[in-house]
Amino acid sequence: MREYQLYIDGSFVPAESGQTFDSINPFNQEIVARVSRASAADAKKAVVAARRAFDKGPWPLMPREERSALLKAVSDKINEKGKELVALEVADSGSTIRKAKEDIFLSARSMNYFSKLAALDLTEPVEGLGKPGFSKNLIVREPIGVVAAIIPWNFPLKMATWKLGPALAAGNTVVLKPSELTPCTALELAQIIHEAGFPKGVVNIIPGFGPEAGEELARNPLVDKVSFTGSTAVGKKIMALAADQLKKVTLECGGKSANIVLHDADLDLAVDGALYAMFYHQGQCCEAGSRLLLSRKISAEFIQRLLEKVGKLRTGNPSDPSTDLGPLISRKQQERVLGYIKQGKKEGARIAAGGGVPTAHDLANGFFVQPTVFTEVRNEMKIAQEEIFGPVLTVIQYDTEDEAIALANDSMYGLGAGVWSRDNERALKIAGRLRAGTVWINEWHLISEKAPFGGYKQSGIGREFGIEGLKEYTETKHLHIDELGSREKKPWYDTVVPK
Ligand code: ADP
Repeated sequence: MREYQLYIDGSFVPAESGQTFDSINPFNQEIVARVSRASAADAKKAVVAARRAFDKGPWPLMPREERSALLKAVSDKINEKGKELVALEVADSGSTIRKAKEDIFLSARSMNYFSKLAALDLTEPVEGLGKPGFSKNLIVREPIGVVAAIIPWNFPLKMATWKLGPALAAGNTVVLKPSELTPCTALELAQIIHEAGFPKGVVNIIPGFGPEAGEELARNPLVDKVSFTGSTAVGKKIMALAADQLKKVTLECGGKSANIVLHDADLDLAVDGALYAMFYHQGQCCEAGSRLLLSRKISAEFIQRLLEKVGKLRTGNPSDPSTDLGPLISRKQQERVLGYIKQGKKEGARIAAGGGVPTAHDLANGFFVQPTVFTEVRNEMKIAQEEIFGPVLTVIQYDTEDEAIALANDSMYGLGAGVWSRDNERALKIAGRLRAGTVWINEWHLISEKAPFGGYKQSGIGREFGIEGLKEYTETKHLHIDELGSREKKPWYDTVVPK
């Protein structure tokens, strides 16, 4: 069993209360790590350290190249420790080993990309304002200050790098709170950051629970921005807490993304795509393709092929490379998902696959749910409207493209969407009418640190990644530099100044 402490102001320290919590392996319920439990008092301490590092430390004014080099060192060290981090992510989060390998690789790649962003000068002239001899006008991007980052449990290390990378690249200092369900790899990252030699207090990592450490971060007046990824319900709470100081927020919340298969789709591709869209990481992805909208012309054949493939999915030990679906994150999540399955039956949807927990003896200690497919679903049913965050696919049929678009948009969420068709032009027209932050054509889950990602409607506020995401960690300053050089030439000279 590993042991971890809080990382505050460049030191590893116990919680002030001395309390700890255990992080549990969702496959076998063994304890992966005993972890110091940050309370509101620890969160305050971390915020004070980050504030000091921002206001008095070298970080925000450090030459861009130096900040960039430190981020690059983090990327390199993630790669060096890759094998260990993969195994830890599997044990702590129930991720299949195939997904965890990709996650760790992408965490390093993202940090490398953010290190390049850190070197960019984002200053630009104001178009159409000022000319030589009159004035010079610049848009300057400056760090916001102290960023509180709160992340969920589905992509633990990746999420940590996705928050820390751009926030640090822009020159902010950060307090990161990983999920209480998956704190381990973020705390390994703390060690990596420590070894890389960041100035004290620039990065603070405090494992703890939402209502204790999390709420304090959202509320604390020394925090300038909160960047959150998690459920819409918690996102709303965080925004309400942050409102008192008008803190900036980026919220990346829930989804119920519609996956539209047109009648002219390549069915081999679209069936596999639908499977990947839904069942990747047991459906525990905010952008999961959880509403499958099928053209009635192909729906019978599509469903038959889909069910054949669902029947072949291997649910099992996440460390085994042949496993497709591991356990859900927790007993609570398992019960929540099973509750939705019950609800779907009650509402009259038909279970075409799965619907319970696997019976295999060796899975008895894990929080498993079978990959489940509901057909005969109506879009107004709870299972089609609410985010289940588990391996439960709802299949809805449509007759016309207009109907498909209306169904897709009939949701409080707007995170992702997909269109499968052999005709790109037709798919693009549909994409233009979908109210979602990302639309994939003949693809799913492709989230890149280079392209903006985020939600319409109640899926969130703001965008992460790319230059656009970097700018969300900056304040914008208009810098006006007078070049007239004399009182008389000022346009306001005649108006208010007594001669
Ligand atoms: P998920 O949908 O991934 O379970 P949650 O929205 O419950 O996610 O949690 C995401 C993150 O938000 C976690 O780090 C969790 O500890 C934190 N959190 C939960 N409740 C609160 C809260 N009331 N205030 C601040 N953070 C919270």
